[in-house]
Amino acid sequence: MWQNRKLDVITVSNVALASTNPAKKTKLVVIIARSHPGESPTSFIAQGFIDFLVSTHAMMGALRDHVMIKIIPMMNPDGVFLGNYRCSLMGYDLNRHWNQVSPWSHPTLHAIKNFLLEMDASKTLELDMVIDMHAHSSLMGTFIYGNSYDDVYR
Ligand SMILES: [Zn+2]
Repeated sequence: MWQNRKLDVITVSNVALASTNPAKKTKLVVIIARSHPGESPTSFIAQGFIDFLVSTHAMMGALRDHVMIKIIPMMNPDGVFLGNYRCSLMGYDLNRHWNQVSPWSHPTLHAIKNFLLEMDASKTLELDMVIDMHAHSSLMGTFIYGNSYDDVYR
């Protein structure tokens, strides 16, 4: 039933983890895009971000020297291929199932959640931020929705 499309992860960093002091973990930022197939502007934003990230711009060089960035540019490849607007192959809105992931119903979400848990437990990386890129059907420009917590390290 699965269509076996790849779930790519792109890693960008100049940090050599083997030489990292275990007492000072390397900050990790994970960026996820295209959980909703119909939000095609997200791919342009992700591509622009990747292009800037690997550019010769001094700010990006400094970022790569101190931070590891992992990008999952296509979280829902089956949904995109099939032309779905919000759903995966199995008809699920992946963004509504983070708290009840099934490897059968949401294989890419399951893989990504396990990946994030693995990164969060890393002895050399500190999962500092996860950015889940979306587009909006009616809002223009750039905006950020986010959770707020009293203790960000809860
Ligand atoms: Zn969305």
